[in-house]
Amino acid sequence: MTSLSALAGFVVGAIVMVAVGRPRDRRRSETVENSDTILPAGVASVLAVLPSSAVVLDRDDRVLRASSAARAFGLVKGDHLMAAELLALARQVRRDGEIRESEFEVARHKFGMETTTFAVRVAPLGTHGQVLVLAEDQTERRRVEAVRRDFVANVSHELKTPVGALSLLAETVQDAADDPVAVTRFAGRMQHEAARLTYLVQDLITLSRIQGGEPVPTPGCVPVDEVLHEAIDRCNTKALAKDISLVAGGTEGLRVWGDDELLVTALRNLIDNAVAYSPENTRVVVSARPAGDTVEVSVSDQGIGIPETSQERIFERFFRVDAARSRATGGTGLGLAIVKHVAVAHGGEVTVWSKEGSGSTFTLRLPAFGGTAIAVPSTSIPMEAAK
Ligand code: ADP
Repeated sequence: MTSLSALAGFVVGAIVMVAVGRPRDRRRSETVENSDTILPAGVASVLAVLPSSAVVLDRDDRVLRASSAARAFGLVKGDHLMAAELLALARQVRRDGEIRESEFEVARHKFGMETTTFAVRVAPLGTHGQVLVLAEDQTERRRVEAVRRDFVANVSHELKTPVGALSLLAETVQDAADDPVAVTRFAGRMQHEAARLTYLVQDLITLSRIQGGEPVPTPGCVPVDEVLHEAIDRCNTKALAKDISLVAGGTEGLRVWGDDELLVTALRNLIDNAVAYSPENTRVVVSARPAGDTVEVSVSDQGIGIPETSQERIFERFFRVDAARSRATGGTGLGLAIVKHVAVAHGGEVTVWSKEGSGSTFTLRLPAFGGTAIAVPSTSIPMEAAK
């Protein structure tokens, strides 16, 4: 009995020891808790509200605390800091106590290989060799900067072409001062280049106004019929010159929620393109139809069509399937980018169906006024005259 109770005592003792650690170990773990594993007061609450990825390392480079963003970005796995560069920086900071800043990239597999760019700040924390690492994701900022740089380069190039042409033509006119026929011809070409410059600048202004992602400036109830007729009117001269008939069709009396002038601009760009990329003696049909909580406005042509491989890219600024052709037709390469931004600003979208050699249909999907597309007599709400 005595030996049994002695055995029971031994087993209970062993369990307690495993649970709490041996006395010497416990002392050690307390020391560790006090010096290494406890964050200075208030740090945890500050880290919890910081938007950046935050990591605290102990003096042995183990991760004591990591924000969920740091784990989501793959900077931390278990209690390890994954980026070797960052670890080296943390060690330097621990050695000399100096705050350091740096930028570095981490490869991550998402849809294919991508890299995330981080701006990091590493600082010593407390007096027990702890180090705080703050990492800010800079990928989006970098992307926006790259797009802006690209855009400025493209704009400069686009502006240089007509300006260069104008300067050359002016020289030619000077040289041909004694030849009135040549002067008339070159003056005509100068007018053409000047007009191109004007369109480009106008399109740039329109685009910069709407691409900021801001909501439409003066939203209201817009009668679709009036947008259709206004846009068709503005394109009629070009269409007539090519014997292209512009036909309005579909459901009458629909209304959308938006800005009338922006919508006319978008539709005019689509009709302009339909005319520009269609042969003579064809038809361009502009029609509206109700589609649940949206109204679909489509522009169909019997033109050259767009190769499938380019269909995704045509809404990018300055993308053209055939740059020479676009310039010849007076295109700026910005028309569809404007259409896309107008659609997005309205909470809508623009899509394309096209077949090379057969034609294209562009469809603008816009939110119906009142939440449901219903046809009402079109005379009820007059749209302001074209501004
Ligand atoms: P552009 O001023 O060059 O017309 P857009 O942004 O309006 O610029 O259009 C981009 C490109 O998409 C055009 O250069 C053209 O290649 C193609 N495209 C647009 N609309 C049509 C269309 N209706 N038919 C054929 N190609 C089109």
